[in-house]
Amino acid sequence: MDNNTTKAPALVIYYDQQTCSRCLGSGRFSYNQITGDRCFKCGGSGTVDTRDGAKARAAILAKREELYGRAIEDVKVGETAKLPGAAMFARARWAVVTESRADDLNPGFWLLRGQHSGLGGHRSHRIHVHTPAAGAAVLAFAATLKGCTVGPKKAAQ
Ligand SMILES: [Zn+2]
Repeated sequence: MDNNTTKAPALVIYYDQQTCSRCLGSGRFSYNQITGDRCFKCGGSGTVDTRDGAKARAAILAKREELYGRAIEDVKVGETAKLPGAAMFARARWAVVTESRADDLNPGFWLLRGQHSGLGGHRSHRIHVHTPAAGAAVLAFAATLKGCTVGPKKAAQ
């Protein structure tokens, strides 16, 4: 566990699921050389969002953008932002910002850095900044929606 990632929230959103109609819940479909036999419709999980679940997911995505979205140059050192990993294709993760400044070498660009991660982007490029208040507001919003439930995070499998 990296010490720069924030602790996972105690509550998470679960979207209503139904059995994948393509693989009938097995998570597997006909074999190909790129993805093997993993079903591309459900990503191998065997389930997909219900109609209401998909609507809830879209509504919460929009709510997160409203509450977390911030122009890159407005992100302050010490805030927790979603930054890509340092290596190419590394998974984005929440990290405490250690540096936020204009990119001297690239006019119009802004640099954000966290431990083990960094991000450069055009000014006004939007990234997500997490605050406890925004997190609580997203969960409260989710609790009002059909198609999802808010519950304790399940242990990793
Ligand atoms: Zn499937």
